Amino acid sequence: MDKNTLLQVWPIPAFDDNYIWRIHDGSAALVVDPGDAGPVLKYLERNKLSLSGILITHHHADHTGGILNLLEALGSDLPVYGPVGDGIPGRAVVAMQDDKIEIPSPRISLKVIEVPGHTLTHIAYFANMQANVVEPMLFCGDTLFASGCGRLFEGTPTQMSESLGKFASLPKNTLVYCTHEYTLSNIRFALAVEPNNLNLISWSDRAHSLRNQKLPTLPTTIGQELQVNPFMRCDQPEVIAMAKEVSGQDQLPTTAHVLAVIRAWKDRF
Ligand code: ZN
Ligand code: FE
Repeated sequence: MDKNTLLQVWPIPAFDDNYIWRIHDGSAALVVDPGDAGPVLKYLERNKLSLSGILITHHHADHTGGILNLLEALGSDLPVYGPVGDGIPGRAVVAMQDDKIEIPSPRISLKVIEVPGHTLTHIAYFANMQANVVEPMLFCGDTLFASGCGRLFEGTPTQMSESLGKFASLPKNTLVYCTHEYTLSNIRFALAVEPNNLNLISWSDRAHSLRNQKLPTLPTTIGQELQVNPFMRCDQPEVIAMAKEVSGQDQLPTTAHVLAVIRAWKDRF
């Protein structure tokens, strides 16, 4: 296989609404967050791909549940990358902020970004443009969703706000591969926060038509999320005003305060 063959990224649907992303060059593949081994093994076989590694963003079972079965089926020497801490079965390589992961096949260079919030040790994987990557790519687990963000199971609003801030500074054309198809319900909430956001209204139409055709609404992009995602827009006057109205607080001094209000509202929406 030519080392410069453009990499492709495709979703393997799992459970009700998970996507297990596979990155491949036509012969070798990586998978991100394989919560279930069955669909991964089926796709590898059907597309005649070999698995060369597993990337894990955080310890939740719907992202890690397939690791051991994949290792058992394909070889226990398969590298598994993941965040610090317990709870990731079979993990051999701990990935920390700014670590560079160089995978020979499919050839890709990934940078690790620590993004606490959904869990305390959550990480994301970022691939900047390279010989076989035309647009930057981000595998963000349950930190960022199209028009939404992960629940704060372990971290604080401040941590999530800083984590989303790290994403906001990535190139706008970065393709964002989220792990769940939550887009339509996220849009419903986002429209409650920003009923007059024209970008959001037209995105809502596009997303509904994709789902009507049973197509994924992902990947999204960083540029798009900066326009339509209330959790990435906690510095915008309309979002701040709505957060004040909903919380009854007349002072929300930082974006983290705004995010705390919006996230708590979404939890009961
Ligand atoms: Zn999760
Ligand atoms: Fe999840």
